[in-house]
Amino acid sequence: MTMTSNESKLRRLQDARLKRAKPLAGVDTCDPNIDPPAGAVIADHKELAHNNTYGRLPRFYVDKVVVCRQCGKEEVWLAERQKWWYEGAKRNINTDAVLCRSCRGKEKVRKDEARRVHIQGLERKQNAG
Ligand SMILES: [Zn+2]
Repeated sequence: MTMTSNESKLRRLQDARLKRAKPLAGVDTCDPNIDPPAGAVIADHKELAHNNTYGRLPRFYVDKVVVCRQCGKEEVWLAERQKWWYEGAKRNINTDAVLCRSCRGKEKVRKDEARRVHIQGLERKQNAG
């Protein structure tokens, strides 16, 4: 398979991101005594209040390497995307991204298709009755 120069550029960018994110795995984002590393996104605890937890909440987010549960690919979960996930989408702080971008896309197509088939089935039933 040949890669276009755009694809290989994207690949290089992703590799560079992965390389940068890997050492950040050791950073305790809840630690009150450390300075957030470069590129960290500060957490807003007001926006995390939905967690109802006495456990520790992160002070900041850093780019994080996640392994896709479906295909095993390593991908960087950007700090800004984590902030959006936990604070914007109000997800539980103990949840994680589990699928890479390409599997998320496929999963969406699969769900849309399943919904379409389901609705078609309902329509067929109604028309029959
Ligand atoms: Zn995947």
